[in-house]
Parts: sequence; C-alpha cells; structure tokens
Amino acid sequence: MEVDPRLYSRGGIITERDPERCIIRLRIPAGMATPEQLIGIGKIARTYGDGRVHLTVRQTIEIPGVDPNRIVPMLVALKDNGTPLGSERQEIVNVTACMGTDHCKYANIDSLALAKEIDTKFFGKELPVKMRIAISACPNGCASERMNEIGITGVRQPYRDHDACTGCGTCEKYCRERAIIIKRGAVDLDTNRCMECGICVLPCPFEVLKASEPRFRITVGGRRGRHPKVGRELITVSDPEKVLEIVGKIIKWVYELASSDELLPEQLDELGFSEFKQTIRDQYEEVRNWPPEQDEESDLL
Ligand code: SF4
Ligand code: SF4
Ligand code: SF4
Repeated sequence: MEVDPRLYSRGGIITERDPERCIIRLRIPAGMATPEQLIGIGKIARTYGDGRVHLTVRQTIEIPGVDPNRIVPMLVALKDNGTPLGSERQEIVNVTACMGTDHCKYANIDSLALAKEIDTKFFGKELPVKMRIAISACPNGCASERMNEIGITGVRQPYRDHDACTGCGTCEKYCRERAIIIKRGAVDLDTNRCMECGICVLPCPFEVLKASEPRFRITVGGRRGRHPKVGRELITVSDPEKVLEIVGKIIKWVYELASSDELLPEQLDELGFSEFKQTIRDQYEEVRNWPPEQDEESDLL
C-alpha cells in the first residue's frame, strides 16, 4: 500500500533511523491519562508498534517501530482511545504541567485545568517557530516552565494580616530564599529575594502571615536544548481567562513577526519584546494596581 505523503506533513509522525519505521507521538496534555487510556495505548503499541512505549520529557508517550503502511488505522484507534496524534513541528506542541492544586500541597493554581484549556484552544496551531508551553503551580518550577517559549507560574504574595507577630521565626526557617528576616521582634520581608511561592504562610502558628489570591506569572522566550535560556517575564495576572487571552496575543505576535527556522528566544529583541511587553501591560491594568490595598490593620511585609 502506498503511504499518503501528506501524513508526514502532520506533526507527531517521526521517521526513525530505519526509514521503514516511524515513531508516533501522542497528544496527552499535562501528561494526565486514565488507567483505561494507558491500557489502550499498550494494546495499540502491541498491535502497531514493536511492543514498547517511550515516555517523553514533554509528558507524552511515543510508540516506536510503526510500519508506515499501518498509520491510518492506528490513528483511528488512538483517537478512539482519547489519546490522539500529537505534534513536534513548528506549532504548539504538547502542553506540560505539574499536578497543581489537585494534588500538590505547595500549589497556588490549578495547573491541570489551565493546561487542558490551553490545549483545547491552541494545540497544533501552526507557527513559524516551535512553541512549547508549560505550567508550574508554584515557583518550585517542577514543569521547568521558565525554560519554555511560554511559561506560566502560580504565585502568591505574602502579607502580614495584623500586628500580632510574635517574632517566633518559624516562617524565617521555611523561606528558602532568605527573604524573611525577623527585625525588632517582628517579621520583615526582602521583596527582592521573595519568589512569591507562598510557602511561608503555611507554618505560621498564629496565622499572622497571609497570602494574596493566586496569580499567574507569564514568561516568554525560554528554552532547553543546546543553549538553554530562562524566559523573560511578561506580566502577572489574576485569572486564567486573562492567561488564555495573553497566550493568544503572544501566539499572534509570534505568528505575525517571527522568522521561520529560527528560535524564538534569539528573536525576542528584534521582534521588539520590550514594546510588546509594554502593550500587554497597558492592556491589563491590574499590574499597575498591584499590590492591592490592604485593610487598615494589614501590612504588606
Ligand atoms: S511546581 Fe510547585 S505546585 Fe507544582 S508540583 Fe512542584 S512543588 Fe508542587
Ligand atoms: S513567599 Fe517569599 S518570603 Fe515566603 S517563603 Fe516564598 S520566597 Fe520566602
Ligand atoms: S509571621 Fe508567624 S511564623 Fe513568622 S515570625 Fe511572626 S508569628 Fe512567627
């Protein structure tokens, strides 16, 4: 049977070292799958591949050793299994995320739900460059989000709710950034060091420390690979709808201006990242109003 060459223009079908075989990469946003889907993938790998599966760094699964003549029925089986063909070309690839508020005690945001929404809205959109999106629900960065073209981090800013601090120093011990200092028997904060992880709030025995509502910090232009780069901060916003809007604006900006076959992090300056950042900040006013007014007794650290 002749293999339809258009199949190879689709992301997710990768020719192997042996050109008679290919790897099929799946779409599994945030790497979350049900036991039934995993059993289904196993059966499909047995039927169409060489019986093995490969877990990728982008939280998806690849099935190697596939005969190109059998791709079409395999793709039908994968779609029916709820784990369809993925992507790997110059497009939006598998969205990755940590477990977030569903499971992690440090989480500030629901990263799994956000990954699903981003996947539904943007997955597979063609671009001049490959675009990886990752979400970590706190600055611990388990999803290495700042090493992606778009990174989203869940943050919470600590503040002192009232003047009842005993100076016990518990919060100081928990802060890994040494951002908390006990001064004259009360807690003080070095905002230059604070990463807004919100962890110091958890152990305060007197509930003196509180955290702001969770927020979403968006970075642009990170990457892994041969020359790793940390993404630059674009903006921090307060709700997932704004994150979706801004991700859409970043994609549009890249689509209109970026050059093919170049890496986005290298192009940021020539694309005018600073002006883009200012435009985004002008549109999302909350940045200028942050931190919000506290009640009279409270005090930002
Ligand atoms: S990034 Fe933070 S919230 Fe996400 S899994 Fe790691 S520690 Fe938990
Ligand atoms: S929120 Fe800031 S002060 Fe609190 S533990 Fe994290 S880095 Fe330290
Ligand atoms: S804020 Fe809480 S944990 Fe920190 S020194 Fe004051 S009472 Fe102790």
